Amino acid sequence: MDLFDKCDNFQDARMAQQAGLYPFFIPLSQTEGTEVTVNGHKLIMIGSNNYLGLTTHPRVKQAAIEAIETYGTSCTGSRLANGTLKLHEELDKQLAEFVGKEAALVFSTGFQVNLGVISALVQKGDYVIIDKEDHASIIDGCLLARGEMKRFRHNDVADLERVLAPLPKEAAKLVVVDGVFSMAGDIAPLPEIIPLCKEHNARLMVDDAHGLGVVGGGRGTSAHFGVTEDVDLIMGTFSKSFASMGGFIAGDEQIVHYIKHFARAFIFSASMTPSNVAAALAALQVMKKEPEHVERVNAIATRMRKAYTDLGFDIGTSCTPIIPIIVGDDTKTLFAWRALYDAGVYTNAVLTPGVPPGKSLLRTSYMATHTDEQMDRVLGIFERVGKDLGLI
Ligand code: PMP
Repeated sequence: MDLFDKCDNFQDARMAQQAGLYPFFIPLSQTEGTEVTVNGHKLIMIGSNNYLGLTTHPRVKQAAIEAIETYGTSCTGSRLANGTLKLHEELDKQLAEFVGKEAALVFSTGFQVNLGVISALVQKGDYVIIDKEDHASIIDGCLLARGEMKRFRHNDVADLERVLAPLPKEAAKLVVVDGVFSMAGDIAPLPEIIPLCKEHNARLMVDDAHGLGVVGGGRGTSAHFGVTEDVDLIMGTFSKSFASMGGFIAGDEQIVHYIKHFARAFIFSASMTPSNVAAALAALQVMKKEPEHVERVNAIATRMRKAYTDLGFDIGTSCTPIIPIIVGDDTKTLFAWRALYDAGVYTNAVLTPGVPPGKSLLRTSYMATHTDEQMDRVLGIFERVGKDLGLI
């Protein structure tokens, strides 16, 4: 047995490539947000997390350029050491205010926030309880933590209670949920989760990667439900609505202060680049000053959810700009993905084990900058492909 045997034996992706059914790592030669080019082939992009379309907003681009002119391209060190700029502190401060918490702390990616925060807080004898559809970075954070991980059925509050009830009352606990779930596009029922957490001595952390900029007038899932005070920790990322790269955790000042000194993914990794910080700060300003982007992406999402449902597609429980088209088996999903691609629509194929067996889907998601005409074209193509493949 050689260590590399598993690599030699892994042939599924090569077979899919040879069959022209490989939906991953597609190199875009051009992108202006809603339209992309692959090998000269133009596609309408409905597979991105650029919900507000701010990656091409003139003020966001200008802020990134100016930050490079002022600070150079990298901070070449951890925030704890030489890698904190005034600009990072400004972003910490403005984010805390935006989500309604005492303090916030900016990390280099959202993935690192979940790794660092969960592993710093959940120690031996503690419990971390997560939704089965929580993001991979939350699962990995739990695997790094010394405490014990438990899981409950997706958005099932009765199942959360079933998991919490037998745990020792005095043991410290953290419940972690996505605010908006990245595949299903549904929302965690925070008003029902909060009383359970209180009853069972559990703190609550919400990963709002897909909620910020989209729900609650852009201020996220906690604001959407008006429960910000009862959510202990709000996590966010800049790789979606914020049109940048990086992530943050927000909460009470003393808790953030602790995380700052114990989250290894924060301490032992270089800080966000100046241009990324400046882009995120500028995107935050745009979100506050131009609410029309948040309104627009939600209007498009409402229209598309209704249109897909009327056509007969299964969109599950989506109620946000993330709209899954549930196809079922992997092969059929790949054929649908390829037919849409050939017709000029870029979607993301999500296969097992990314989703449970029989639940393979095309993940579609929308941007404030999509035009009505683009959406008409997308729906026309979906109707044709859906009929050709017997999906509707
Ligand atoms: N949480 C969720 C729910 C996500 O969808 C993602 C990214 N896909 C992350 C965390 C990680 O964020 P980042 O891209 O900033 O690493």
